Amino acid sequence: MLVSVGRGIESQDNMEIVLELADALGVPLSASRPVVDAGWLPKTRQVGQSGLKVKPKVYLAFGISGAPEHLEGMRNAELIIACNTDPGAPIFGVAHCGTTVDLFDLVPELVDKIRG
Ligand SMILES: Cc1cc2nc3c(=O)[nH]c(=O)nc-3n(C[C@H](O)[C@H](O)[C@H](O)COP(=O)(O)OP(=O)(O)OC[C@H]3O[C@@H](n4cnc5c(N)ncnc54)[C@H](O)[C@@H]3O)c2cc1C
Repeated sequence: MLVSVGRGIESQDNMEIVLELADALGVPLSASRPVVDAGWLPKTRQVGQSGLKVKPKVYLAFGISGAPEHLEGMRNAELIIACNTDPGAPIFGVAHCGTTVDLFDLVPELVDKIRG
């Protein structure tokens, strides 16, 4: 399983909430290219055409639009779950399920549920 984050996270300070979710689930955190280009995660965590091709059982995408170069790296995941406030985001074209809930509402809620 991978928790993956995109430009929707907005700032380095906000990375804390997705790091916490990945930690609560005990899985790695990966990212789209803008997050890596900003220096918020190392290049070894970039998913996509110029990064890693991954095939996890579950790919949780937060604030990732689903550009073709990103999809190339993860579209073969067994289950893709997307969180994106834009219902027209291309990630929903490959996601098996998803939500347009704001990630800043959803992620802390998930952490609370997982940690009980
Ligand atoms: C040659 C080449 C190679 C490339 N290689 C890669 C690659 O390997 N990997 C890669 O990822 N990209 C790659 N790219 C870049 C790619 O084209 C996109 O620019 C990039 O994937 C976009 O990243 P993103 O989805 O994080 O950002 P954006 O496209 O900016 O999407 C951010 C998304 O977050 C959503 N959002 C905003 N706020 C919230 C919120 N509060 N809650 C929920 N959702 C929210 C928005 O609706 C938006 O859809 C490459 C490009 C080129 C030209």
